[in-house]
Amino acid sequence: MHQASEQSIPTQCTVLIIGGGPAGSSAATFLAQSGIDVVLLEKQAFPRNQVGESLIPHFWKFADLLGVTEKIKAEQFVIKSGGIFAWQDKVRQVKFAEFGYDRPGLHVERDRFDHILLEHAKSIGVSVITEVIVKRVDFSNSELPTVFYTDKRGDTNRESKIRCRYIIDASGHSSFLASQLGTRQTISSELKFLSLWGYYRNSRYLGVDRACHTPDQIQQQLPVTFVMSFSDGWIWHIILRESTSVGLVVHNDKTRGMDKAQRELFFKQTCAEVPYLRELLRDAEFIEDSLQFRPDYSYYSTQICGENYYCIGDAAAFVDPIFSHGVQNAFYNASISTIAIKESLKNPRQRARYSQLCESRMQQFYGFSRALSLGDYGINGVNRELVKPLMKTLPPLELELIYLISQVTNRSENFIQLAQETGVWNSFAEQHIERLTENIHLDFS
Ligand SMILES: Cc1cc2nc3c(=O)[nH]c(=O)nc-3n(C[C@H](O)[C@H](O)[C@H](O)COP(=O)(O)OP(=O)(O)OC[C@H]3O[C@@H](n4cnc5c(N)ncnc54)[C@H](O)[C@@H]3O)c2cc1C
Repeated sequence: MHQASEQSIPTQCTVLIIGGGPAGSSAATFLAQSGIDVVLLEKQAFPRNQVGESLIPHFWKFADLLGVTEKIKAEQFVIKSGGIFAWQDKVRQVKFAEFGYDRPGLHVERDRFDHILLEHAKSIGVSVITEVIVKRVDFSNSELPTVFYTDKRGDTNRESKIRCRYIIDASGHSSFLASQLGTRQTISSELKFLSLWGYYRNSRYLGVDRACHTPDQIQQQLPVTFVMSFSDGWIWHIILRESTSVGLVVHNDKTRGMDKAQRELFFKQTCAEVPYLRELLRDAEFIEDSLQFRPDYSYYSTQICGENYYCIGDAAAFVDPIFSHGVQNAFYNASISTIAIKESLKNPRQRARYSQLCESRMQQFYGFSRALSLGDYGINGVNRELVKPLMKTLPPLELELIYLISQVTNRSENFIQLAQETGVWNSFAEQHIERLTENIHLDFS
């Protein structure tokens, strides 16, 4: 195994990982736990900014497998018990505990959270090298592909290469490998969304008691992730330890032609006008220069695994963050792709088979996730016959939770159709769902 070193990049390794976000760092850890020699190249210096601060309780089981649970707990991120959704004319609350989760969700500063994961990977022997940009992969030698990179550390700009047996592309929304291989597909034009998000100081928040609180009360009254629809799309409000993340998800056309200043104006005006949100931000101050913008982020890939490569996390697909499941998807795909790689290393003659199995499992998972996120918009690029068996394997409470969230955000059409076609619909506790979707009252006094 390589010594963790920021000084030298080896010329050969067993697995080369592109990107040090949750997908890359967790894949690296899973492999290093089995004594596999892993090099991870990350283009930015860590900690680095990242959006996606709301984590659902599902992620804990992966944190346990990674052995990083205690490090995450020690950080004392904000604990949340669920969400409140103000969608069109209804307000509904979702509590994870009602669905059998005995551990909470979290609101995390992603720069900090992702850094903990990357440091953890290093601590068990992964060679993590930051400020190195992967430029191209040459697959002409399928046993030992070559990865070309630029080392940006210091004042240098050195071009070099490393050979490896397997590549994991965890490069996030840039979808490095899918772009090189031409397998990246954009979602059809009417489904193109963008996000604008920024940070406020001193925002009030909604507690699990459905009342509005000042930030100093966060230890006494746990917050929820607050999601609301508005005329142009939807909005999140996520309180963190020192600030609050507020994001708009709108159609691409909405900000077409706007420059940076105009986008900021649109963002601030929307935040000041939308009911509930304007109440929460009443005494808050926008943190200057905190506005960020991610245009046109909906895509998927027609092939995500090959004999010697695996695309995981956002590098494979992304549609809409309404379910807050990006990070847990990244962990899930890291876990199954690394099982495939470990088995392939033990039995190289079967590597095509492991890769095909993984392809089919990941396409099933991403397809289901895309069908849910798109909801009433259709089922862009999803293979229904592949996705349906997954529904049959999900525990009833998990299906109820997914159904509930898709229903309160008015995007349950795909879920209902798939559930009816697979016959899992009958197992639903309709009354349970009805009680959970009662309209609630929010107290802003
Ligand atoms: C608007 C929005 C809101 C979201 N909200 C949530 C949420 O509330 N909860 C949630 O769970 N998820 C959310 N997500 C999704 C979540 O942010 C992602 O799913 C998650 O970060 C994916 O992790 P990853 O490791 O695949 O990619 P990333 O976290 O993007 O990491 C990829 C890394 O690869 C590096 N990289 C890229 N190219 C190269 C290269 N060529 N060479 C070397 N390194 C490279 C990048 O620098 C980066 O550090 C949201 C996403 C968006 C767009």
